[in-house]
Amino acid sequence: MIAAILAGVTAALGPNLWWLVPGAAALAVIVFPMPRRGPNSSARDVWRGFKYAPREAVLSRAGGRCEGAAFIAWGRCASPAVQVDHVFPWSRGGPTVVSNGQALCAGHNRSKGAMTPPWWYVLSLERRRRTYFPHGVDVRVFAVVTEEERAARTGTAARSKARPRR
Ligand SMILES: [Zn+2]
Repeated sequence: MIAAILAGVTAALGPNLWWLVPGAAALAVIVFPMPRRGPNSSARDVWRGFKYAPREAVLSRAGGRCEGAAFIAWGRCASPAVQVDHVFPWSRGGPTVVSNGQALCAGHNRSKGAMTPPWWYVLSLERRRRTYFPHGVDVRVFAVVTEEERAARTGTAARSKARPRR
């Protein structure tokens, strides 16, 4: 029974294997995430969106201009930045920290979605950043919460608990 099913599947797939195998391999390469980058946990950050100082830091290092690619992974978008976006999505554990932020125009922000960015997306962003980031600022996307950033969050939580209810 199982042998018959396998034989059927093989017979159906056989003539297509010459493109199915390299096609599946190419797809796996295209969607593969950047090794050793991205969040080290899938837990959602208590800070949902970029506000105040982290938002200003991301917009200012981008010079107020969109960091998106002009075409797929080439060139830089010419539109002004209006949003600070999570490179590694918040819904997938990407923290709301400057090392996971990018300045985007309205169009790029709409088209990005909540996908974990593939390696080539991160590489092309970092390559563009070398041309406009202020000297000495790290171009890499890290998406991990530093001790200082963790302290800022527990400070917020402690203050909001201490605040009297009205
Ligand atoms: Zn853009």
